Amino acid sequence: MRRCLDGSAVTHEDGSTFQLGCNIVVNCAGHGAHDVATAITSLPAEAFPPRFLAKGSYCDVSGKAPFTHLIYPIPVAGGLGIHVTLDLQGRARLGPNVEWIDQENYSVSQSLAAEFQKACEGFWPKIRHRNITASYCGIRPKISGPDQSVSDFHIKTGSSIGAPRLINLFGIESPGLTSALAIARYVESLSV
Ligand SMILES: Cc1cc2nc3c(=O)[nH]c(=O)nc-3n(C[C@H](O)[C@H](O)[C@H](O)COP(=O)(O)OP(=O)(O)OC[C@H]3O[C@@H](n4cnc5c(N)ncnc54)[C@H](O)[C@@H]3O)c2cc1C
Repeated sequence: MRRCLDGSAVTHEDGSTFQLGCNIVVNCAGHGAHDVATAITSLPAEAFPPRFLAKGSYCDVSGKAPFTHLIYPIPVAGGLGIHVTLDLQGRARLGPNVEWIDQENYSVSQSLAAEFQKACEGFWPKIRHRNITASYCGIRPKISGPDQSVSDFHIKTGSSIGAPRLINLFGIESPGLTSALAIARYVESLSV
């Protein structure tokens, strides 16, 4: 599908067309942002910041947690380190780790349990008496890769690529960016 910011015809692969009109497009599609940007502008992926995927998996821990607050270790390259979070029932969840991947995949291997146990034994020695089971994962949409210095978030209009009414957000990832009002305000300031 070809999309145009000026409201001109949008053509589907089956040949059908329709009009799409808008004043501003905010491309905040997470790790789909590169696909959206290339589809809108028809520019190659190289016109945009590089795309790296850093998968983060979680494991559940059996029984009630002996903590009443979150526990964070020293951060590691690419992530905050495997930390302890608590759910509303007071059960502990460990994660996320950092696994650099080439293709999106959302499987979580039970083999992670040993790695997660080891990562937490320093501050939770009795975790070895608990069952640790694979849970869920997410993928951080990074724009700097392993062994590279950490990139800042990329939030820019497409003025330099001939699409001034397109605002691209790349590399919006952990930590602390879920529903980030500061980012929303900045995007709003770019759109006036
Ligand atoms: C493992 C992990 C742990 C994290 N922990 C925390 C935390 O503890 N605290 C915190 O604040 N943040 C955390 N984050 C970061 C947080 O999840 C992100 O910063 C936040 O989700 C970014 O929001 P967003 O709206 O930019 O992108 P997203 O939440 O990824 O939303 C993007 C949306 O775009 C859609 N989309 C994608 N591609 C397309 C397409 N081609 N066409 C149309 N729609 C598309 C998606 O379906 C999705 O709805 C964590 C992230 C990960 C991966």
